Amino acid sequence: MKLICIGRNYTEHAKELGNAVPERPVIFLKPDTAVLKGKDFYIPEFSREVHHEVEVLVKISKSGKYIQPENAYKHYDEIGLGLDFTARDLQAQLKAAGLPWEIAKGFDGSAVLSDFFPKSDYTLDRLTFSLEKNGEVVQKGNTAHMLFSIDAMLAYVSQFFTLRVGDVLFTGTPAGVSAVTPGDALTGHLAGKEVFQVFVH
Ligand code: ZN
Repeated sequence: MKLICIGRNYTEHAKELGNAVPERPVIFLKPDTAVLKGKDFYIPEFSREVHHEVEVLVKISKSGKYIQPENAYKHYDEIGLGLDFTARDLQAQLKAAGLPWEIAKGFDGSAVLSDFFPKSDYTLDRLTFSLEKNGEVVQKGNTAHMLFSIDAMLAYVSQFFTLRVGDVLFTGTPAGVSAVTPGDALTGHLAGKEVFQVFVH
């Protein structure tokens, strides 16, 4: 199972990090060992600035390669919500040096996955989601503001990577990312319903 992540899919977030709005989706992967087990996240020793990025997740239900955008909907039945924890200090160093981001994005525990729910229960192109830190809303998103739709992303990604059953797509984060500190409680909401909770240590 692989975790395929899209960067800079919301204009306001691209701007807050000083990045240009991309013409094509920015893709990176996390290994399956990145999936956080349980609800406790430990800030790794190698970073002093781990950011939360709340993102809508799409679970692949049918494998495919060179998927056409108009057929992409046939390849997923369920969606969820997750966190793409990012060692921002490390990522900034790697970006400045023109190096890949993997260690800043794919470390153990860096991928939080909620349960998955039938996509038919949601309006996918107007889906609201949010993240609360210690009871205060820090990130608020609406999939209507995505630069690339879920179907467009899957079609693009599948040119490079065969999509397999169980793979998960992270669809990018809206504005409002910030550092987490020990003691923080993070709560994710999808269409108004709480779907995950994570405690930072
Ligand atoms: Zn992200």
